[in-house]
Amino acid sequence: MARIYFDNAATTPLDPEVVSAMSDTLMHVYGNPSSIHAEGRMARTSIEAARKTVANAIGASMAEVFFTSCGTESNNMAIKCAVRDLGVRRIISSPTEHHCGTHAIEAVQKSDAVAVEWFNVDHQGKIDPAELDRLLAAQPGVKTLVTLMHANNEIGTMIDLEAVAAVCKTHDAYFHTDTVQTIGHFPINVSQTPIHFLAGSAHKFHGPKGIGFVYINSDVHINPFIDGGGQERNMRSGTENISGIVGLAKALDLAYTSMDERRAHISDLRHYMMERLSAAVPGLQFNGDYQGRALYTVLSVSFPPSPKNEMLILNLDIAGISASGGSACSSGAEKGSHVLEAIGADPDRKSVRFSFSHFNTKEEVDAVVEKVKGMV
Ligand code: PLP
Repeated sequence: MARIYFDNAATTPLDPEVVSAMSDTLMHVYGNPSSIHAEGRMARTSIEAARKTVANAIGASMAEVFFTSCGTESNNMAIKCAVRDLGVRRIISSPTEHHCGTHAIEAVQKSDAVAVEWFNVDHQGKIDPAELDRLLAAQPGVKTLVTLMHANNEIGTMIDLEAVAAVCKTHDAYFHTDTVQTIGHFPINVSQTPIHFLAGSAHKFHGPKGIGFVYINSDVHINPFIDGGGQERNMRSGTENISGIVGLAKALDLAYTSMDERRAHISDLRHYMMERLSAAVPGLQFNGDYQGRALYTVLSVSFPPSPKNEMLILNLDIAGISASGGSACSSGAEKGSHVLEAIGADPDRKSVRFSFSHFNTKEEVDAVVEKVKGMV
């Protein structure tokens, strides 16, 4: 039987149309976009067309979109440049952020005079915008960066983006959001929601790995993150990854064109799996705000304590099923999840993250539930 891939929050398979757009670019668009000759201009045209696609998708202007190497770089750029260049002296964030957020914050905390406040998340990983309001009101004179992910990659819990952005605006705080799990899956419009920085990554919406983007609001003026030849309007030097950029834009275009259909299909699968698993495994629970504001692509399942469940992810893999223990970085059994720890999950229970794409089917869900039933 073909393998079943239920680890789409770690990364998604490339869409064949993306592969075709990329290979076309790799074959024919080989000029250096900084060269002024015909080949260079052709490469520049491809990049700017891709930038337009991204800008249109999120309601930004083209000058506000910068291509980077990945979501990790975009998050690092936003957090580190806000501290270095915008006079930020206080960061408010959540312990459930992706490690590229938490570790970037810890890095600036060590090297700069920045105070960091970590939110108390509840048992579903939610933050309360009223609590953010209180925190910001408590120190009105201190320039603050609020950095909160739109959706958690391990448990799927989402913030109320509009509410958080509005609170930040009221207190004149900078707001950065890691939208790596939501770009291409949910509509996001920066012309309607006041956001200063936003990070995206192509491989989470069926584009290639090694390419991402950062949105930087035109009112925000930071200095270069990578110094060099002045590419990406001097913000992020380095010869552009043209095929990656084209692939990102193609994948985003497809994601936006079929967003409603994909969402309906994947939400249906997730709901079906919840019902079938609950019926099959006594004592099973779900992590996160799974019935509320949550990613429809992620189902984080908490299995009751049992020695049989310890090797669940490995046994699933042997049975031809790919899932993970949390984020891709912690999917090996050796390290516990900082997210599950932050929400106070019972360490004796075993959590498995199943995450879906529009390529998955109900038949696959049936097959996975049968296998799980036999294992636990
Ligand atoms: N932020 C979130 C929420 C993620 O899920 C990931 C990837 O797992 C990243 C950031 C990092 O993105 P990238 O793999 O493009 O560096």
